[in-house]
Amino acid sequence: MTDSGYPTRIGLEQALEIVAACAAQHRLPPEASALAEAQGRVLAEDVHAPHPLPPFANSAMDGFALRGANLPTDGERAFELIGDVFAGATAAPAVEPGQCVRITTGAPMPPGTDTVVIKENVVVDGTRVVVKLGEKAGTNVRRAGEDYAEGDLALMAGTPLGAAQLAVVSAFGIAQIQARRAPRIAVIATGNELVPAGTPLGFGQIHESNAVMLAALARDSGMRVTLQRCVRDDPDALRVALLEAAAEADIIVSSGGVSAGEADHLPRVLQTIGETRFHKVRLKPGMPTLFGQIGACLYFGLPGNPVASAVTFRVFVRFAARSMLGVTTVPKPPRARLAAPVHKRHARAEFARCCLHVDDAGVQWAMPHAKQGSGMLRGLAETDALALLPEGAREFAAGDVVMLWP
Ligand code: AMP
Ligand code: MG
Repeated sequence: MTDSGYPTRIGLEQALEIVAACAAQHRLPPEASALAEAQGRVLAEDVHAPHPLPPFANSAMDGFALRGANLPTDGERAFELIGDVFAGATAAPAVEPGQCVRITTGAPMPPGTDTVVIKENVVVDGTRVVVKLGEKAGTNVRRAGEDYAEGDLALMAGTPLGAAQLAVVSAFGIAQIQARRAPRIAVIATGNELVPAGTPLGFGQIHESNAVMLAALARDSGMRVTLQRCVRDDPDALRVALLEAAAEADIIVSSGGVSAGEADHLPRVLQTIGETRFHKVRLKPGMPTLFGQIGACLYFGLPGNPVASAVTFRVFVRFAARSMLGVTTVPKPPRARLAAPVHKRHARAEFARCCLHVDDAGVQWAMPHAKQGSGMLRGLAETDALALLPEGAREFAAGDVVMLWP
């Protein structure tokens, strides 16, 4: 704790716990959504199968539907072909013993049939269909409800809605579902040195890149960017910008201005307009990360160094958004073996930028990029994942297993 009463220089796990607790109090409201709009969002209700799936017994193959009890037990047997039933047929002929019907995949099984013999296994001669020994009764049929029985819990609230989940809902004939609203995020880059791309650089100026990157990361994580701007290192301007953003967003992220320099005003500004939940995490990159609330909005003050901004967004902001969306599934972090030894010059947890490759034995290896500087964009642009080197240990050998944050 500091004099101001908030935790400081905390470990990564404690920081994530604080973020999770705040985010859980800021669940986003559910909305009735058409399926296309629900993609990438999170289901806010349990979905039970309103009817069996498949809804009726149907053929799994193109062939001939007949009674399994009539199959030959020795030699072969001719069946009388009495008609056909294709997928989409509105009626199917009733089949008597010794008869069969030509059928296509997905077509309803005609009354009196329970078996499909595939077309490649029969000889058709006019209305005679000859079936040889060796066919099994009951095969090539999909039973009603074999995928989902009526009333099955098919999808749980908290499930992210990807292509497969939308397909399930669609197959149930449901056109609208309750999905949580995408988080609205405001992105603010701070710094007097920043000018937008397309403007020539003056002395000491650099082109703004964090707001562009953070907005892209936010969109990648299913958030809606409602504001993206640059603000100067001026306490009043920062205060006004944050209050304006808080009125319209669920999450605010800023970059820069959270360290201990003379122009780093954000920790004090947050104290005057909101509540600080923590400042500084024992993490590299990302040590100066600031977290709090401004009104009903979660606020993340990310460090200005581009890599620190990207890493802390990935670690904290995405995590908060998942919790606000009520995601219940915990993604299992993939693992890899370090392809080269790493020496940490500090005890803090570190996220190393790595390139991944899989060897012939199927083992995944993570090779740390040579440019690990937290200001170096190359280390981000040329790598696949972050490897977490946990707090405490400083020496990591080639072959050590690390957790990956893709
Ligand atoms: P700060 O956290 O404000 O001390 O900034 C740390 C470093 O990140 C400085 O070198 C800044 O110039 C740089 N930086 C801050 N904001 C941005 C930005 N939006 N785009 C690119 N670089 C930035
Ligand atoms: Mg700055």
